[in-house]
Amino acid sequence: MCVCVCVCVCVCVVCGVCVCVCVCVCVCVCVCACVRACVRACVCRYPLGMSGGQILDEDITASSQWSESTAPRFGRLDFDHGDGDGAWCPDVAAAADGRRQYLQVDLRSLHFLTLVGTQGRHADGMGNEFAQRYRIHYSRDDAHWVGWRDRKGQPVIEGNRNPYEAVLKDLEPPIIARYVRFMPVTDHSMIVCMRVELYGCQWLDGLMGYSAPEGHQMIYRGLDVFLNDSVYDGVAADRPTKGLGLLTDGAWGLDDFLHSPIYGVWPGYDYVGWTNRSFPRGYVEIVFDFDHVRTFTSMKVHCSNMFSRGVRLFRQASCFFRSEAEWEGDPVVFLPPADRVSQGARFVTVPLGERTASSIRCRLHFGDLWMLISEVAFQSGSAVYNTSLRGHPTNALPDPTHKVDDSNTRILIGCLVAIIAILSAIIVIILWKQVWQKLLEKASRRMLDDELTARLGGGGDSGGSSTYERIFPLSADYQEPSRLIRKLPEFPAGGPDGGPHYAGGPDGGPHYAGGPDGGPHYAEADIISLLDGPPGASSLAAGPPAVKEFPRDRLSFREKLGEGQFGEVHLCEAEGMQDFLDEDASEGRSHGGGWSHGGGPLLVAVKTLREDANKNARNDFLKEIRILSRLRDPNIVRLLAVCVDSDPLCMITEYMENGDLNQYLHTLHYAQLMSMVLQVAAGMRYLSSLNFVHRDLATRNCLVGASCTIKIADFGMSRNLYRGDYYRIQGRAVLPIRWMAWESILLGKFTAASDVWAFGVTLWEVLTLCQQQPYGALTDEQVIENTGEFFRDQGKQVYLPKPASCPDDVYTDLMLRCWRRNANQRPGFQEIHRHLLDNAA
Ligand code: AMP
Repeated sequence: MCVCVCVCVCVCVVCGVCVCVCVCVCVCVCVCACVRACVRACVCRYPLGMSGGQILDEDITASSQWSESTAPRFGRLDFDHGDGDGAWCPDVAAAADGRRQYLQVDLRSLHFLTLVGTQGRHADGMGNEFAQRYRIHYSRDDAHWVGWRDRKGQPVIEGNRNPYEAVLKDLEPPIIARYVRFMPVTDHSMIVCMRVELYGCQWLDGLMGYSAPEGHQMIYRGLDVFLNDSVYDGVAADRPTKGLGLLTDGAWGLDDFLHSPIYGVWPGYDYVGWTNRSFPRGYVEIVFDFDHVRTFTSMKVHCSNMFSRGVRLFRQASCFFRSEAEWEGDPVVFLPPADRVSQGARFVTVPLGERTASSIRCRLHFGDLWMLISEVAFQSGSAVYNTSLRGHPTNALPDPTHKVDDSNTRILIGCLVAIIAILSAIIVIILWKQVWQKLLEKASRRMLDDELTARLGGGGDSGGSSTYERIFPLSADYQEPSRLIRKLPEFPAGGPDGGPHYAGGPDGGPHYAGGPDGGPHYAEADIISLLDGPPGASSLAAGPPAVKEFPRDRLSFREKLGEGQFGEVHLCEAEGMQDFLDEDASEGRSHGGGWSHGGGPLLVAVKTLREDANKNARNDFLKEIRILSRLRDPNIVRLLAVCVDSDPLCMITEYMENGDLNQYLHTLHYAQLMSMVLQVAAGMRYLSSLNFVHRDLATRNCLVGASCTIKIADFGMSRNLYRGDYYRIQGRAVLPIRWMAWESILLGKFTAASDVWAFGVTLWEVLTLCQQQPYGALTDEQVIENTGEFFRDQGKQVYLPKPASCPDDVYTDLMLRCWRRNANQRPGFQEIHRHLLDNAA
């Protein structure tokens, strides 16, 4: 009996972090649960050695041969001997005598044969003899020969159509034999030549034959159901003996015994069945004979249990054992549990209690009117060769099949263990990858958080308001200062205006003059180093003053413009501001700022640091001053002067009369929107040309002046007004996660490419008129999850959708490119600006 186990393992693991591996492994393994290793026609199809040479010449014989060069040993399929004439050819004269000609192969042990192959004589085009039809005879002992017939009783097999092509034929039913004869069926006058191969595997069951009462015929609703052993090859006397048939053909019946998996056979074909009416003792007795004495563990019987048709499993099995001449008296008795629920056919395992025997006689007691079985197999361990007890000296001889049993079981177990190990390894790799990615993500986040925490300096020394939250991990590492310390804005060494106020300060302006390349340079690293000094007005005084101190009393309040994290922003008139402006600044009006006002008081925006601001807020406020003081671009908001000699600290910037872009957008047309985006891109191009990373580009941080002039602002802080745009990490830091590139969130990496990402989001905001928050449908946590998907890059990441007013090409050629996973594949601001400029033209 064979149990065919089909294991289909489909492992689809979606890693929560960054790996989505979908592995589908389908392993179909035919496993024999008995000692007979894998005798299933589906897998038992190995060439047995005619073409491969494992079958020795001496084991290939024939009834006759035409000549020495067509001797039997040349009858090997697809095998070139060199010295022969290319095939076995029988003697024509012998054939003409009417004697059956055959080519015989001795396989040296019993084999389960499922396939045969034949070929004619080709001999490199010299030969043209082949057998169009042939028969097969076989024997297990070389004494009793059986003519093979197919399931319909046909003995002749269709052979070759030409001398060179090999033709394979399935043996249905399979043959269990040691000796096989190929017998060409031919007109006597014809010369036929053959080359052959046998396919199958070794028959390890040890069962040499069984004898059972002839099966009966059932009439079921007028249908003839033949339950005889139609392929039994034993000798039929009053009772057949030493034959094998349906019960060992490796195929078992369906639940419904009227049907068969084999095409075109009659109802009941797969089963041998009996009715209890013919057995007054209530049981059927079957005798099984084995090749030698074995130790039996169990017998498996495949039975029908179609009780609705009067068929049931046997209700009792009593097995007797015989190792010598006499049957032993004490049978093994087994009562299978009756199943009154399932009508499915099944294997019933009868434990045989490690009894030793070379023959077993089992009485299967009827459980109902009918008993139908389709397969029987035995599980046996080592054979017993106790000659002193058994008195069969020949049994003491080493028997190849005896050892093969164990080794095949071991091979089988080994194969299964290997398959399980491979599957386990795959699963472990997948899980390991998952865990690793999770750790990586956690570590990244922790790193980011630690950085933030460290920067925040803990709550203890802040000493001030808890309303201030620092947004960014301002590590020099993130900014890659080595790359930053390269470029300067276009103003000369000594200060933006070249005038005395900015000319180097105490140290002669080393921070922004004379970089490594000999040219002027400016970088955030300079600012950071300045900030590393004692915070407050004194530290600003210690560094190079990039803007002038403005007398506070010359500022008169007009109205409140807004409120940010630092504090309130007021519109003020600045008396005498002109004296504090450089030439460049005086051109401000032409760039859309509202602050140049002839000789009278100037309208300015004054951003004031709230009085209760903590140390970090103060530092960042000063940092913004230092950054802004060094930036000169028509699309960057201009710092005009500061009030830092005393508290509260103030920065005086150009007044942008239309407020911030976010609020301003609502009434604009597409062309105006794109012109604003173009200006944002221009400002960012400028910043990136300085290797400066903004880190918080968004519409809320762009200001709108007269004539829709856009200037980028906010070089460091989030705003109260937009606190919903920021994500609070463990109650401390806040991050504009909806604008941030995945690598900024997960790895704390801020680069020009992450600004490009934010630019893409800003563009999206502009084109949606800031009506929605990016990923408005997602919670902050889901946005971070989505960031993980960008990292994993398995097609599960969610992109911001195309805004209604956005042309397809802007979405695909610009927006989506800004959000590419690989930062190197995102466009630079130079390219973005050029693209927008071309489109605007
Ligand atoms: P901030 O503290 O920079 O985030 O500014 C808070 C709000 O004040 C902004 O949203 C603007 O509406 C307004 N604001 C800031 N700076 C200016 C400026 N230079 N001109 C006009 N409005 C400004």
